[in-house]
Amino acid sequence: MAYDLMHRSPAQDAVLDRILQRAAEAPLGAVVALDLDGCLFDNRPRQVRIARAWADSRGDVRLAGLRIEHFEDWSFEATLRRLGLPADEARSLAAEFRPHWEAAFFDDPFVIHDLPLPGASRFVRQLRDRGARIIYLTGRTHTQRPSTLACLDRYGFPIDPAGDGLWTKPTSDQTDSDWKRFALETLVEEGSPLVAFLDNEPIHLVHAADDHPNMLSVWLMTDHSPRPHTVPDSTPRIHGFLRTTDPMP
Ligand SMILES: [Mg+2]
Repeated sequence: MAYDLMHRSPAQDAVLDRILQRAAEAPLGAVVALDLDGCLFDNRPRQVRIARAWADSRGDVRLAGLRIEHFEDWSFEATLRRLGLPADEARSLAAEFRPHWEAAFFDDPFVIHDLPLPGASRFVRQLRDRGARIIYLTGRTHTQRPSTLACLDRYGFPIDPAGDGLWTKPTSDQTDSDWKRFALETLVEEGSPLVAFLDNEPIHLVHAADDHPNMLSVWLMTDHSPRPHTVPDSTPRIHGFLRTTDPMP
């Protein structure tokens, strides 16, 4: 599985239409929860920036040729192997990089390098226009809110000025999985009907299907953790937000 940003197909049109129709038929203010990283946004430009900055700081020229195409999943070791590094070297360099990556990826300033998936903000505006309450449900932490809000605004994603629609993880100690389960349950307890949930990480989709079988969960086929996936066959999947009616670039 890898990013296919320009993908368009009748099957993808049908899934997008199904989400929009659900939003239109639901009570006003029913929730559509959308993930950010690997779902509405392509994080690979951020990944490249972080890795290159780290390499530059060490005077390491091995990462000079690193490009977004080398990132197909969240394993930096696999990324380095795609770049052409031998297996042993990739493994040890990835282990060295890990603490730096952790600090940089969850630091606010690098967030601005993310780019939206083509058609993503248009689709979210269409959901909003059909009466959905948009919740950006992300594993990003509270410390990343400033750049995240700036990015959402810059690329035309609907967001209220107070940022109430952005649900960031209270603490980095919590797993993304626990956080998203808690957040969806909180919405239900608030009395908010759940219309749809879009995410790229298989584990979140498995939990969503278990916990909220009446919600439409949709899998974004971009990238995900290197673990084997167990997303139910019945979960609809899309590569992005472009439609067959969109002009080819
Ligand atoms: Mg994600």
